[in-house]
Amino acid sequence: MVSSKSSYILLTELVVPFGFMKENQSRSLRILGFFAHPDDESVFLGGTFAYLADQGMEIHFICATRGEGGEMGDPPICNWEDLGSVREKELQCAVDALGGKTVRFLDFQDPVVGPKGELYSYTEDTNGLVELLQDEINRVEPDVVITHGHGGEYGHPAHIQSHEAMTRALAQEKNINRIVYAPSWLSRETGEFIPEPSFVVDITPWKNKKIQAINCYKSQHGMFLRHGTARAGKPVTIPEIVRPLEALSRIHPVDSFENQPDPLGVILEKISKPVKTPD
Ligand SMILES: [Zn+2]
Repeated sequence: MVSSKSSYILLTELVVPFGFMKENQSRSLRILGFFAHPDDESVFLGGTFAYLADQGMEIHFICATRGEGGEMGDPPICNWEDLGSVREKELQCAVDALGGKTVRFLDFQDPVVGPKGELYSYTEDTNGLVELLQDEINRVEPDVVITHGHGGEYGHPAHIQSHEAMTRALAQEKNINRIVYAPSWLSRETGEFIPEPSFVVDITPWKNKKIQAINCYKSQHGMFLRHGTARAGKPVTIPEIVRPLEALSRIHPVDSFENQPDPLGVILEKISKPVKTPD
């Protein structure tokens, strides 16, 4: 009916702008997500990115490699020569699912995983990587950077290299005040988040978007399910391996919130749960 439709429009016209002004007094944040491989963004923080995109944040992703050194699927979905282009499309699919704005690759070659599962960093030219990241920071001008933690989550050398290079890139004087977060990863061994989380967020309302993003990575499903099955002690499906909680650690600035405004922290706070502290 015309009358109810127009009153609906009137209501949203009145309520939404006032609500928006109250909840979001600053402009939408621009976020730069930098990760080593396609799937890191979704596995570690897919729910958080989906939440931030829903809140109107502008998220730009940069991926160091195309994950050419990873698995091709079980059974394989492509040849080794095609894995990079397959995973490039998988990342684009995941970013679309999470509501990201752009994706760019730094074109490093991901070394093949060793015969005993050895993992490698992706470049010897660390200075060159730092310069590339400085160019990307200058291009995107992010308010917040989200990248790997100093321990590479579970110790992956490519994640550690990405963390160290981004830290160096941000040490430039003009970038020194940018806020930086890293995933805080739940250790299978200790059951604790590493590094210590600033926020443990409940991603339940965005879990389906994370599952959608993880579903894009067909080439990695064999590995995800193998790890998930080992963890659970029984066969699992992709939706079953997606947990309802994610955690983030603010790695810069490290001092208290009073000393520097942290607009991302304010947004994460809204969906955060109390951080479990050790006894
Ligand atoms: Zn990775």
